[in-house]
Amino acid sequence: MSNRYDLIIRNGILVCPDGLKQADVAVYDEKIVAIAQDLSGDAKETIDATGKYVFPGTTDGHVHFNDPGRTEWETITTGSSALAAGGGVAYFDMPLNCSPCTLDAKNFNAKLAVAQKDSLVDYGFWGGFTPKNLDKFDELAECGVIGFKAFSCNSGIDEFERADDYTTLVGMEKLAKLGLPLMVHCENAEITRDLTALALSNNKTTVRDYFAARPPITEIENVSRMISFAEETSCKLIIAHISTAKAVELVTQARNRGIDVCCETIGHYLILTDDDVERMGTVAKCSPPIRDIANQTKMWARLLNSEIAFVSSDHSPCDPKLKDGEFLKVWGGISACQTTLPAMLTHAYHDRKVPLGDIAKLTSQNVNEIFRIQGKGKIAVGYDGDFALVDLDKEFILQPEDLFYKHKVSPYLGDSFRGSVTQTILRGTTVFKDGKIVSKPIGRHLRPNL
Ligand SMILES: [Zn+2]
Repeated sequence: MSNRYDLIIRNGILVCPDGLKQADVAVYDEKIVAIAQDLSGDAKETIDATGKYVFPGTTDGHVHFNDPGRTEWETITTGSSALAAGGGVAYFDMPLNCSPCTLDAKNFNAKLAVAQKDSLVDYGFWGGFTPKNLDKFDELAECGVIGFKAFSCNSGIDEFERADDYTTLVGMEKLAKLGLPLMVHCENAEITRDLTALALSNNKTTVRDYFAARPPITEIENVSRMISFAEETSCKLIIAHISTAKAVELVTQARNRGIDVCCETIGHYLILTDDDVERMGTVAKCSPPIRDIANQTKMWARLLNSEIAFVSSDHSPCDPKLKDGEFLKVWGGISACQTTLPAMLTHAYHDRKVPLGDIAKLTSQNVNEIFRIQGKGKIAVGYDGDFALVDLDKEFILQPEDLFYKHKVSPYLGDSFRGSVTQTILRGTTVFKDGKIVSKPIGRHLRPNL
C-alpha cells in the first residue's frame, strides 16, 4: 500500500482518548491506519472536515428496537437509521421487547437474521436472564451475547419474568464462569407492585401518583442487594439506567471495595426533571421515573467525577396508542436513540463544560471497553474507521420530520440543541449525511472478545 487510502478526513479536530488533535485521519480496509497533520498520500474519498469535530461514532449500550415481533413499535431498519442520524455506529439491543424475547439460541438467531438483513450499523445483542432460561445461558454465550439483562421488578412483558433471588444467585454464578456481565433493572419488586396496586385501588393515576409508587428507595435498596450478590458470586454487575445519585454513590463505594460493578445512566435522567414530565405527559414516562432537580444536580456531579461508566438512550418506543390514557396505567418507555450525542453536547459540553473527550468516553470508548468489543470505540490506529462529524455550534430545534423513528415521538420535540451531527461514518463508509441515510444496511454482528 503506497499511501493510497480508502478515505481521508482532512482538517477536522479529532476527539481522541488523549485529547483534541487537529489532524487528518486515514482509513484503509475499514480500519484507521494513519493519524497525522497534513497526511500525505491520496484516497478514493476525501472529506474536508474544516470547522468540524470528529468524534468516534457512538455505541448505544441499551436500546429496544423490538424486531422481530413488535415491528409496529420500531424496527431494526428505523431504529438503526435513527441511531446513525445521531452519530451512532453500533448498538446493543435488549432481549425484550422483541418477540420472542432473546432467551435461547433459536430466538437469538431469529433476531440475528433480521439484523444481518436490515441493520444500517453494527450491533450486539443482550441475552435474557430469567427463571425460565437458566439452562440456556451457555448457548446464548456461544451465540455471542455481550451480556445478560435481568429485571428485579416486573418487566411489563409476561414472557420475560423477573429474576427472583434464587435465579439471581444461580444465574450470577453461571455468568461469573462464562465471564459475561449481568445488567440489572434495579427496582424493588414488592414495593413497586404494592404501591402501584394501592394507587390503582384508590384511583390515583396521575404523574405524581406514579412517582410516589416508585420512590428512590426502590432503586437504592435494590442496587445494594445486587452489589451483595455480585460480591459473593464475583459476577461482573452493571446497574441499568441508574436514576438516583444515592445509588451511584453505592456503586462507587462498592467499586472502591474491589467489587466489579459499574453503572449506566440515560440522557433523560440528566436532562429532564419530574416537573418536565408533569408538563410533557406520558411521552416522558419511563421506569425508574425521572427524579427531581436536586437529584439531577447530584447526578451531574457524580458524572463529572467519573462515577458513571456510560450514557445510553434506553430507546424504548411503543405504538403511540399505548401512551394514550391515565399516566399510571399507560406504557412506560422513551424514544431517544437519535438525540443522545446532541443532548450531551448541549447539556454536558456547552452548559457544564464537560470535556469533549469525556463525552466520547461516555458514549463510545467506555461502552466498548466494558463489553470487550475489540477495535471499536476510539479514534486510534488499528481501530474501526467509525466517526461522527459534529458541528459543535450549530443550533437546531428538534422537529418530528428530523426523526427516523417509526413513530415521530420524543420528549425533546421543540427543544433547542447546540451541537449537530452532520455525517456518520461506519468502517469507512458514510451511512448518514446532511439529514439523509445514504447507505444500504451494512451493519455487522459484534461479539465480546472473551
Ligand atoms: Zn431498557
